[in-house]
Amino acid sequence: MTTAVRRSARLLSLSSRSATTLANTQHDTEPTRPRKRQRVVNPCPSNDGDQTVTVPRRKGKQIEFTPSDFPPRRQSEWKVGAHVSAAGGVENTVINAAAIGASAFALFVKSQRKWSSPPLTGHSIDTFKSRMKEFGYSSSHVLPHGSYLINLGNPDEYVPSFQRFRHPMTISTREKREKSYTCFLDDLRRCELLGLELYNLHPGSTVGEATPEESMSLIAQAINRAHQETNSVTVVLENMAGSGNIIGSTFAQLGTIIRDVTDKDRVGICLDTCHTFAAGYDIRTKEGWNSVLDQLDRDVGIQYLRGMHLNDSKTPLDSKKDRHENIGVFVPCFRFSIDKMSEFLNSSGHLELSTFTHIMTDPRIQNIPLILETPAFDGPGLKLGEGMSIWQKEIDVLYQISEGIPSPSELQEWEGAIKEVVSEAAKSQDSKQRRRNHDGTSSTSRKRKVKEESESDEE
Ligand SMILES: [Zn+2]
Ligand SMILES: [Zn+2]
Repeated sequence: MTTAVRRSARLLSLSSRSATTLANTQHDTEPTRPRKRQRVVNPCPSNDGDQTVTVPRRKGKQIEFTPSDFPPRRQSEWKVGAHVSAAGGVENTVINAAAIGASAFALFVKSQRKWSSPPLTGHSIDTFKSRMKEFGYSSSHVLPHGSYLINLGNPDEYVPSFQRFRHPMTISTREKREKSYTCFLDDLRRCELLGLELYNLHPGSTVGEATPEESMSLIAQAINRAHQETNSVTVVLENMAGSGNIIGSTFAQLGTIIRDVTDKDRVGICLDTCHTFAAGYDIRTKEGWNSVLDQLDRDVGIQYLRGMHLNDSKTPLDSKKDRHENIGVFVPCFRFSIDKMSEFLNSSGHLELSTFTHIMTDPRIQNIPLILETPAFDGPGLKLGEGMSIWQKEIDVLYQISEGIPSPSELQEWEGAIKEVVSEAAKSQDSKQRRRNHDGTSSTSRKRKVKEESESDEE
């Protein structure tokens, strides 16, 4: 097969994939039983491109991983990681983070799409804590992400039943804000049970029923109330890409909320590179990055920066769209053809890898969790510590960048390496999906045949 044909095959696979999001691939918190013996493929590709590690040892029916099952993590002041899966229990996030060479990680502490979930078990809590210690993770480098359902800016109020006749429009939705608060408080308490100190949250939305000022005040009130009902966890407000009624797409709005929070020691912000860029802050040049951080310092205060999400953007500057892309990778929105191949090979995410050079060499960004939320193309059914080859590569490249300002040719080479892994992962997911579809079809047709046969027997 010629190189051109091989590339063509890869590109076709990329074109046919669906844009898998972080949310629908990685964050299933439904319990699954631990698997038997597993192979973790190349947890640290930088060390040895062909290395495979066989893990783990079994103790009774439980699998036990130890740090020696994975290559040692890079020692760096920049703490890079990814939002890893909590499938099978929150305690598994530590293993999943270690498997990809992450020094920081994010997780959902319960299902992110349900209002309520079963409480954390004592076993989960104890195992999570002991693994954190054993694998050498600090709670200040773990950034749990709040439920997507929570909207503390919703003006909708609880109306006592005797007053409801005066507020007929609010009856159907009257409890939304309180429901959000309960879910938020539950998340915070889970963090405290796990010994975690940070909690990242989307600020909220006016839902078109309040002014931004009213919503921002409601968000601050909810944070103040939650501070009273918890002991130590810090609420970290994430900046947003900004569309419609969403709060938090300007630094000024984040600053306004924080000004109304009483306990300033327990509030912070998280800067998402994709959201920042999509909201109109141009961080592509070093000067641009510095001036955006200056503005952050003026509007909020750089001391409130407690974490970052490192994502490239599928959409251009000021697009107001929240579309994450693998760092340095950009798949243009057109159907691939041989003619367009070179366009893809020369393309990159709207931020490009060079943007991450400013971040990964900035001492102001040291010692806070830097979390990838990029597409991983890992479908359901993955075993603990398996898959996530894209994040391994992205983490590896980010660490290489942090070791000195890279040359343009190095950046190009690393961008190509990430594209290669993305392309391979997308191709593998496509073929798994095709197999699943095929199996599904054949089992359905088998069942139909059996049914038809049994019906004909009855006749
Ligand atoms: Zn988020
Ligand atoms: Zn986002």
